[in-house]
Amino acid sequence: MNTKSIEYIDKLSREHTLSLEEYTYLIQHQDAAIQEYCAHKASRVARSIYGKDIFVRGLIEFSNICKNDCLYCGIRKSSPCSRYRLDKEDILACCQEGYELGFRTFVLQSGEDGYFTDERLCDIVSNIHQSYPDCAITLSVGQRSKESYQKLFEAGANRYLLRHETANPQHYQKLHPKAMHFEDRMQCIQDLRDIGYDVGIGMMVGSPFQTEKDLAMDCKFIETFRPEMCGIGPFIPSHQTPFKDYPAGSVETTLFLLSIIRLIQPNILLPATTALGTLDPKGREKGVLAGANVVMPNLSPVSVRRKYQLYDNKICIGDESGQCRHCLERRMESIQYHVVTDIGQIRPWKEGDEYESK
Ligand code: SAH
Repeated sequence: MNTKSIEYIDKLSREHTLSLEEYTYLIQHQDAAIQEYCAHKASRVARSIYGKDIFVRGLIEFSNICKNDCLYCGIRKSSPCSRYRLDKEDILACCQEGYELGFRTFVLQSGEDGYFTDERLCDIVSNIHQSYPDCAITLSVGQRSKESYQKLFEAGANRYLLRHETANPQHYQKLHPKAMHFEDRMQCIQDLRDIGYDVGIGMMVGSPFQTEKDLAMDCKFIETFRPEMCGIGPFIPSHQTPFKDYPAGSVETTLFLLSIIRLIQPNILLPATTALGTLDPKGREKGVLAGANVVMPNLSPVSVRRKYQLYDNKICIGDESGQCRHCLERRMESIQYHVVTDIGQIRPWKEGDEYESK
């Protein structure tokens, strides 16, 4: 085995930090043995904090209307895809169904749809909050003003997912139209943190033009920002976008990064994403075995699922919510993990806590 890689992985598990060069080296020199070594360490660390519990979030994709034109995204403004928007009643019905299925966290995700003004979105959030006071409400609705984030927080949203997409500003510009700026995205992420949200960031692995050094910069950003959650999945081309002919990201590299991120921040909430499950039929199981501890089955009405296609061949578009939930339960049981009915809060952790594998 590559002894330098082993040395770096050992150092990362002890110190939770590496230099940009060391991360770059690790990502450039991965092989199956190194990936397995790192996954073994990472899954042990995850188990020492979360046991074999897997947190579950109910994902409600409530609108695919978007004013942005991100070059990778299947629901970008210029995409000819057919559009939909759920109303408040539809969204509340999803939550009701989700609650009965045991979900205690709802993730409301959408394109940047101008219809959802602060007033309308706050009304939806506070309705969910009043109906399900024992649930966490996560928003993933893109960039908004700090005032808007503040109002939504006061209405009852307590978590926010806003992937940074890439920590390299030059790379960011290659993935987005000129009108979108890296600094604005980062400012939003900081605003969310300052307001008091639990913040989820994240990136695609293998997006066009990405280098190993870009991924190393993502690792450095995670180290310094210390998000509560980090969503990473492979880039998957969408035929509706200018990136339609670019190859998909690698499942192995995504898994390796999940392991590295777990070692950077032992208690981080790390989802095994749908994109991972799309590229590999056992992707989400492999994600958990590499250190992930969250899954996000779809709660959106089946009638609109097909329309929220960020990328091609997305899985689970024909299944009822209950089927998705139970399918994931079975998948987790098959690797001796258990989906739990729990709000799924990040657990405190400090250096020196026992790594007792459960
Ligand atoms: N509009 C919201 C939600 C975006 S969709 C926002 O701006 O945050 C959620 C995530 O899907 C994106 O952040 C992106 O990382 C991912 N995504 C989009 N297109 C993708 C593709 N082609 N392959 C893989 N992931 C993609």
